[in-house]
Amino acid sequence: MLYTMEKLAILGGPGSVAGDDRDLFAWPIVTKEDEEAVLDVIRRGAMSALDVTLAFEDEFKKWQGAKYALGYNSGTSAIHGALFGCKIGRGDEVVCISPVYWASVLPVFSFGAVPVFADILPNTLCIDPADFERKITPKTKAVIAVHNFAYPAEMDEITAIAKKYNVKVIEDVSHAQGGLYKNKKLGTFGDVAAMSLMSGKSLACGEAGMLTTDDTEIYERALAYGHYERNDAKKLQTGYLREFAGLPLGGHKQRMHQASSAMGRVQLRSYDERAAEIRRAMNYFWDCLEGVPGIRAHRTDESKGSTMGGWYAAHGLYVPEELDNLSIGRFCRAVAAEGALCSPGINAPLHLHPLLFNCDVYGDKKPTRTAFSERDPKDPEGSLPASEAVNSRTYYVPWFKKYKPDQIEKYAKAFRKVCENFGELTEGDEKNPGGGRYFSF
Ligand SMILES: *Cc1c(COP(=O)(O)O)cnc(C)c1O
Repeated sequence: MLYTMEKLAILGGPGSVAGDDRDLFAWPIVTKEDEEAVLDVIRRGAMSALDVTLAFEDEFKKWQGAKYALGYNSGTSAIHGALFGCKIGRGDEVVCISPVYWASVLPVFSFGAVPVFADILPNTLCIDPADFERKITPKTKAVIAVHNFAYPAEMDEITAIAKKYNVKVIEDVSHAQGGLYKNKKLGTFGDVAAMSLMSGKSLACGEAGMLTTDDTEIYERALAYGHYERNDAKKLQTGYLREFAGLPLGGHKQRMHQASSAMGRVQLRSYDERAAEIRRAMNYFWDCLEGVPGIRAHRTDESKGSTMGGWYAAHGLYVPEELDNLSIGRFCRAVAAEGALCSPGINAPLHLHPLLFNCDVYGDKKPTRTAFSERDPKDPEGSLPASEAVNSRTYYVPWFKKYKPDQIEKYAKAFRKVCENFGELTEGDEKNPGGGRYFSF
């Protein structure tokens, strides 16, 4: 189908999408069952108790296929737990990616360690395994592999490199719960997985997080760090931790609020089914756009056994060279004018934020990154080309929760119409540098 005869909405033509399609996008899906579960916690006054959280952990670990699951008050806390679990400490280096939500990077500083940035692969938006290997030094203790915007990171290569250099692998599954890499569940490749379950994520139950692992010492260290009330000397198998039982080694309190665990239990039961519908809807959207110049799907080839989980915060890839270098900003405004959500970029690259190279967080009289490491204090501009370009080469697309082909086709048409009429947009293009912020929404 060609829409070349239609005037673009941004230039005064008719839009492609009309009406209120909120049912297509509503998330999380909250039913009476969620409400009853949460009300039960509140009515019993059990908000800070553990019974519901323990049940949630038990169900979660079975669903995940892990030996242990530990509930948290946030994904950020779970990442702290994973880092402590992996014995990250003074002067250590942890390889991270740069254009990502800060909680996948900044907790490293909390342990006297420094994040070292590896570039991303422009098509997956996940860590480039070759650059990960290049960034390894004798001080490298761990890598945080984020399945960024639901795309599975290259776990075969990452785990092989990590093994070679004796580096721990922490998977950040905040965007990709239930996703598969070569038919195996994300979060089961590394030494430990940590993830957010906050309201905006694909598996959502409020401010909450989860850590999963098969490693008893990692689990018990995470428990010891921020779960004092469960850090029971009689139960600990890790001998050196027993002496410190009863108090949190990290000085943190990371327990999950039971309103979240209650909702999490209910959400988990429907999650696989709902995520499958999301994938069906998103794949249909991208199928409608196959071959359209200037845009590409950010998605896996499911026939190879890798999936996009709940397709958190769906994005597309932009190839401006095919549209006479139309800027991402102008492109997105034209699509938005058609009535489809579209905004430029993913996350701003953290390596260029002064907190990472110029902030004295802990009063060392020098920037924290320099205080904790002899590495160059800053990754200069140009050092991570794909990470620096990503915000002019990606855009949010509608994140469909329901498979409704008639409606989805209209959104696809909005993108297609702009791509096929891009010539009309070059006038008035202010060639802005693209999007990307330090927070997701
Ligand atoms: C949301 C998110 C986190 C942190 O989770 P919170 O629950 O918000 O603390 C960590 N990593 C990534 C990649 C995230 O998107």
